[in-house]
Amino acid sequence: MRMVTLPGGETVPALGQGTWYMGERRADAAREADALRLGIDLGMTLVDTAEMYANGGAEAVVAKAIAGQRDKVFVVSKVLPSNASRAGTIAACERSLQRLGTDRIDLYLLHWRGGHRLAETVAGFDALRSAGKIRYWGVSNLDTDDMEALAGVPGGGACASNQVLYHVGSRGIEYDLLPWCTRRGIPLMAYSPLGHDVRRLLRSSALQAVAKRHGATPAQVAIAWTMRSGVVMSIPKASDPAHVRENAGAAGLALTDQDLAEIDAAHPPPRSKTSLDIL
Ligand code: NAP
Repeated sequence: MRMVTLPGGETVPALGQGTWYMGERRADAAREADALRLGIDLGMTLVDTAEMYANGGAEAVVAKAIAGQRDKVFVVSKVLPSNASRAGTIAACERSLQRLGTDRIDLYLLHWRGGHRLAETVAGFDALRSAGKIRYWGVSNLDTDDMEALAGVPGGGACASNQVLYHVGSRGIEYDLLPWCTRRGIPLMAYSPLGHDVRRLLRSSALQAVAKRHGATPAQVAIAWTMRSGVVMSIPKASDPAHVRENAGAAGLALTDQDLAEIDAAHPPPRSKTSLDIL
């Protein structure tokens, strides 16, 4: 498994698993937890969830998946902006810990910037860290100007990651956010690496051509592409075990300069600032 280095030096797997839309239906929970367990067995031991997903239902699925193997897994969860006051962040984390059936979250993110001041949220994160309830904190869906604002609040420099939309069809972060974070040693985490609407992305003839050359699949190429810089983690979501196996295969796929040039020609990098795409 390729690894990405967090500020402070700990390494985490570059390829993890998402959980959005898991936990929506009780009847699917066991199958979804099985899919996550399969992914963990295949090395995708970073698992991303959020209090928002299925109103806590996805965290309950993650609890089933990590039961008996908590120490193997790097658990990421998120606080909703509406809860992200100092006290609200602490209370939301306590509820997430209950649902996750664990005593700590490895990386706790602000899901997006909302009405509460960043300084308040960071104060909540700091208190949670001091209490050992989270190991690192970070953010999600923050563009460069928001990251600048975060860096300016007390303790804001301790941000461990920014989770943002990133796939071949949405490359705006390459213009300034990715360089900004890279300069400061803050790794990004690519959400929806398959574009969320996967059928659309997999129609890409460039992805298909590159995949054919490697004896891989277009989904594997799309995922490997998001991780190519070494400073971006990728968290595809898959409830189908065949998809889980396929996605795990992306970890070993090294794209060549020719592959990257072909993908650039079909899905050009940004030439100017665009505001951050958000799902
Ligand atoms: P995604 O991972 O790009 O795509 C998920 C979809 O692709 C599912 O329908 C899945 O189907 C399908 N799929 C997975 N592997 C496949 C494969 N090899 N071949 C064909 N189809 C495949 O989209 P996402 O769920 O939006 O993003 C991933 C994760 O990022 C989320 O689950 C969540 O944890 C996180 N996220 C965060 C934010 C944020 O605001 N921070 C926003 C969006 C997402 P099956 O499930 O049927 O296998």
